[in-house]
Amino acid sequence: MTDYRTLRVALLGAGAVGSQVAGLLLRHGDELADRAGARLELAGIAVRSLDAPRDVDLPRELFTTDAESLIVGSDIVIELMGGIEPAREYILHALNSGADVVTANKALLDTHGPEIFEAADQVGASVYYEAAAAGAIPIIRPLRDSLAGDRVRRIMGIVNGTTNYILDRMDTEGADFADVLAQAQALGYAEADPTADIEGYDAAQKAAILASLAFHTAVPLEAVHREGITGVDAAMIDAATHAGYVVKLLAVCERIEDAAADGPREAISVRVYPALVPRSHPLASVHGANNAVFVEAEAAGSLMFYGAGAGGVQTASAVLGDVVSAARHHIAGGVGVGESTRANLPIVPIGHVTTRYQITLEVDDRTGVLATVANTLSEGRVSIATVEQTVIDAPETTAGGEAPASEIPMARLVIGTHKALEQDLSDTVDKLAASGVVERVVSVLRVEGD
Ligand code: NAP
Repeated sequence: MTDYRTLRVALLGAGAVGSQVAGLLLRHGDELADRAGARLELAGIAVRSLDAPRDVDLPRELFTTDAESLIVGSDIVIELMGGIEPAREYILHALNSGADVVTANKALLDTHGPEIFEAADQVGASVYYEAAAAGAIPIIRPLRDSLAGDRVRRIMGIVNGTTNYILDRMDTEGADFADVLAQAQALGYAEADPTADIEGYDAAQKAAILASLAFHTAVPLEAVHREGITGVDAAMIDAATHAGYVVKLLAVCERIEDAAADGPREAISVRVYPALVPRSHPLASVHGANNAVFVEAEAAGSLMFYGAGAGGVQTASAVLGDVVSAARHHIAGGVGVGESTRANLPIVPIGHVTTRYQITLEVDDRTGVLATVANTLSEGRVSIATVEQTVIDAPETTAGGEAPASEIPMARLVIGTHKALEQDLSDTVDKLAASGVVERVVSVLRVEGD
């Protein structure tokens, strides 16, 4: 057996991911040593409670509640506790004690990333976080290393498994949002409090991480436009299917030409919202709780990364890949992986974004209505690509049991637009709603990926 140098590894957290990381480290020690060029000695595991049940059978003597002491003298510290404090404090302590750090903590990187990367820079240490976006899928390293010589134009990601599971079931079974959410909770796909997933917060955190790397610009979470999926209903999914689309919660990170006051400038947009994706697009075939990240780069063209976006053992794979990289860095020495934010591109608000839209309206079915709608769109600089009109039956009574407000027959208009500026589109939809001919704006969805 090769006589490797031993590196001391401290693990903070032994929950869903941490317990799997510990198990793999202990089971595959020899193989990992060959790959890392160093023996990885699991020096200890810091947890909150020594008696909590663990997913993996691990030696009791490794556990401690004293994370501070465990960190001292470690070469690599793996932070898998989650949350902001004390994770932030422990990571800074580890870096300042000369350790490289591996973490999966997207919430912490979004709120304190610059502070952590600065601290690593100061001491020449590295911070690895492959598992922080899209779980097991290798996307951080491809963006940071493999595409470092290219220019990323756009990233479109399905980066939240819970919402993809819900939307996929609504799409394939015609099920209602509330029913699928309840089932997802019962099956453990969704948390008891699903807000972070269904309101798009989790996806926005990952979008900020991906955009920062892709565009070499620090992207704070507040700069990410975020909309969740709670407004998506069965009728919307139906209309999308009819038009050849599927509804997906997308994280879109895009390099754009922005019309600033003193002329066009290069900028970026980072946004999360439910969008229509053509059924022929590779992202449309991402089913269940899977994740995928579609990257468009100037020279490389289109690349797709696909797989499990979460799960204890799956995420542990990404964490251990980082541990091996950290070990190699530790052995070889030299400058750490570092974060490049030198491009420092301006991040534009959603109103500056240009995309295609599908607008669904309920209108009075009478002469002149279509012309009024078309004129309003044209005056608002929104150009129509397709229109489909279907007559809908007027309800005999309203939901409250009264007679319908109007005897005029109604029609549903589904309008596909050419590319339009979000601000123009939203002003125009407001005008349509107030025009007197539109009974209801049923939905306005962006179209991405065509
Ligand atoms: P988890 O199951 O909640 O486990 C957290 C672990 O940290 C537990 O072992 C807990 O100890 C320990 N811990 C918490 N606070 C502590 C403290 N103050 N001092 C010492 N130990 C403490 O979390 P997880 O699901 O493994 O997630 C870990 C990280 O990975 C998070 O940042 C998460 O966002 C990220 N991540 C998770 C997944 C996934 O699929 N689960 C996927 C991608 C990324 P006790 O066990 O004693 O309570």
